[in-house]
Amino acid sequence: MSNLDIQRQYARDKNLAEFIIRLESHNANINIPLLRKAYEVAETAHQEQMRDSGVPYIDHCREVAAILGEWHLDSSTIAAGLLHDSVEDTGVTIESLKKDFGDEIAHLVDGVTKLSAMKYKSHEEQQAEYFRKMLLSMARDIRVILIKLADRMHNMQTLEHVPARKRLRIAQETQDIYAPMANRFGIAKAKVALEDLSFKYLEPEFYRELANRLDETRDDRERYIAELTGPISEALSAAKIKADVSGRAKHLYSISRKIRVRGVPFEEILDLSAIRIIVGSVHDCYHVLGVIHAMWKPAPDKFDDYVASPKPNGYQSLHTTVVGINGRLVEIQIRTHEMHYIAENGIASHWLYKEGKKSFDKGDQQMVWLRDVLEWQNDMQNPAEFLEYLKIDLFPHDIYVFTPNGKIIHLPTGATPLDFAFAVHSEVGMRCAGAKINDRIAPLATRLKTGDIVEVITHPQRTPSRDWLQLVITSNARSKIRRWLKKIGHDELVPIGKDLLERELRKVRINYPPDKDLLEIAESLSYHSIDSLLASLGNGDMTVGHIVSKLTPEEQKQHRTIADSEASTQRTEVQGVKIQGHDDMFFRLASCCQPIPGDEVIGYVTRGRGVTVHRSDCPNLEVINNNPERQMEVNWDVRANQMFRVRVEIRVADRKNMLRDITQTISDSDANLRGAEMHAIGTTAKGLFSIDVHSLDHLQSLFLRIKKIQGVIDIQRSNTGSK
Ligand code: MN
Repeated sequence: MSNLDIQRQYARDKNLAEFIIRLESHNANINIPLLRKAYEVAETAHQEQMRDSGVPYIDHCREVAAILGEWHLDSSTIAAGLLHDSVEDTGVTIESLKKDFGDEIAHLVDGVTKLSAMKYKSHEEQQAEYFRKMLLSMARDIRVILIKLADRMHNMQTLEHVPARKRLRIAQETQDIYAPMANRFGIAKAKVALEDLSFKYLEPEFYRELANRLDETRDDRERYIAELTGPISEALSAAKIKADVSGRAKHLYSISRKIRVRGVPFEEILDLSAIRIIVGSVHDCYHVLGVIHAMWKPAPDKFDDYVASPKPNGYQSLHTTVVGINGRLVEIQIRTHEMHYIAENGIASHWLYKEGKKSFDKGDQQMVWLRDVLEWQNDMQNPAEFLEYLKIDLFPHDIYVFTPNGKIIHLPTGATPLDFAFAVHSEVGMRCAGAKINDRIAPLATRLKTGDIVEVITHPQRTPSRDWLQLVITSNARSKIRRWLKKIGHDELVPIGKDLLERELRKVRINYPPDKDLLEIAESLSYHSIDSLLASLGNGDMTVGHIVSKLTPEEQKQHRTIADSEASTQRTEVQGVKIQGHDDMFFRLASCCQPIPGDEVIGYVTRGRGVTVHRSDCPNLEVINNNPERQMEVNWDVRANQMFRVRVEIRVADRKNMLRDITQTISDSDANLRGAEMHAIGTTAKGLFSIDVHSLDHLQSLFLRIKKIQGVIDIQRSNTGSK
């Protein structure tokens, strides 16, 4: 042996020994002879190659294998990690690997080699193809993608040595594909590392700025965390709970997203650090939560129970944000050791100490997801379409909703139908008069969910109003509404308001009132002039129906006192009632009391409008009672499936998801929701819902179900005519 050979031999033995020790620290049962053999084959194969950094190529193979070891993967995967580049870059063949290491390892290396042969392009179609192949290789053996992720981790860690152009491409690909993939498989530590590294190379200046500012504020943050963890540890030991309490810094990429996407200035990102509490049992998690909430007030709406409902990638924890010392918000995560382990290692954690286990349980969440994805891709001819579906699952912080034509609109979580309308087209946003979500009328304040089909109802006369600003979260919609409100002054709003009023009055055949009457109405509503009343009609602060109801003669009031939100859906003549001997009478159900089958009803003959049917206890009947000769007996005559509109008023405790729970109950009860609004009044809220039901029985059973919803105080039919 030459001197060089001896040196090489010595270096190999030393590196190999250190490598084995590292692996054994994570798993005492690794197959040392197998790994030694794989190491030697890999080293020989790459003997002539160097990395861009100038170190021997085997260093890369060894680091990739070591990462797989840290993830507690089995010896076959670690061996395949050592060999992952040998077929692509050297003379080694799959056949020879089969002979030397068996089918399993040869297949893993083959999978990684094929994956590496695909060149990532940002072109959408090629991207889709790339994902598809990746998923197919995963479906055969998910360890292929774990090897690829480990490979990418090490390549990102050594990216500074790679030529600039290639560096950007790799960083972009990591951000687009590998980091979301790591997240999808629940490998939090890989996700965090990949996100921060790609951020560092894609936006070096922003990265440095954030890193510096975090550095500058580190002492302050650490002091604050220490001020919190001390009392927490004391309180927990007083409660006899064994727990690890630690502080942790948010990673740079997530901070950058907050600044970029949500527009929060650095100074205002209060939760730069968080506290993590790890305990022995699920029971202890909730116990700790109770202790924490007794110490500090929880911030409203900032509690998530991912223990009871894990995230799709299997993540479990309790998250709460409390108002800590000096009013500073601090986020606290509470989880068991097992949850923590799974959170850090995700899908890879399945191999923990399970040497030899080769496949996942069929019911495993990630495998279920993978199967679903592969099924979609069979269904979809168009690669771009497939990619969109895939992104929906890879980027859980965004939502994807559909136009009725199936076009996908991408919005941030929390977006409303109004955000959607502006995202479709600004003109659609400006004229948005309502929205249907999955074919049902829904309030504009509804938070959209991924998969919702949203149809915007536009009206040529509709214009933005000031309260729209409360309804939108996207900056696009917000800035367009602001611009409009600024541009449109008082003077322009007056004719718009006047026009709206004139139209509405024509519909109900009332003459435009003289100024004297209009001024009286304006003053009764605290407006100082007719013009300011009209202007507020124009921008939507005041509703036309409200004015009309004040102008309507008593007799016609029965028809027109219906809430304005329903003015556009005014009732036409209905079937469903009959009068002895008057088959051809013209009926309408009074909108003031909205009778439904099962109610006792009375008909009232109106001039030129046929018969209006009221509930016999309708307060408006008292007003017209002095005309008994115009009342007539009517009976219900309902066809199957016919539905009737009622307005109900619900008083509820003002809590998160209340509106969603109520609308869900309504739709679960075979009733149709036609309109809904909710206003907070102190700690309670009042909701007005328009609902189509079959009958009084149906309505009463719906009431019973709604009353069972937690926080519902009271529900009743609302009777606008009685006001
Ligand atoms: Mn590699």
